[in-house]
Amino acid sequence: MAVPQNRTTSSKRDMRRAHDSLVAANPAECSNCGELKRPHHVCGACGHYDAREVVASTAAATSDEDAA
Ligand SMILES: [Zn+2]
Repeated sequence: MAVPQNRTTSSKRDMRRAHDSLVAANPAECSNCGELKRPHHVCGACGHYDAREVVASTAAATSDEDAA
C-alpha cells in the first residue's frame, strides 16, 4: 500500500480545507404555488416553470387542485 513520504503539515492541510465549506442554498418562491424551489429549476411541488406547467405533477393529478 502506498504511504505518504512526508507528513502533511497542519498549515497545508488547513489550506486545502479552506475551500471545503458548503455554501447555503438560495431557494426562491415558486410563482405558481409559493413553494420554495431552486432557482432556474422546475418546481418540485407543482411542476411549473416560468408560470406554465412543464412537468405533469403527481400531486396535481391525484388531488386535481391545479386543474383549474
Ligand atoms: Zn410550484
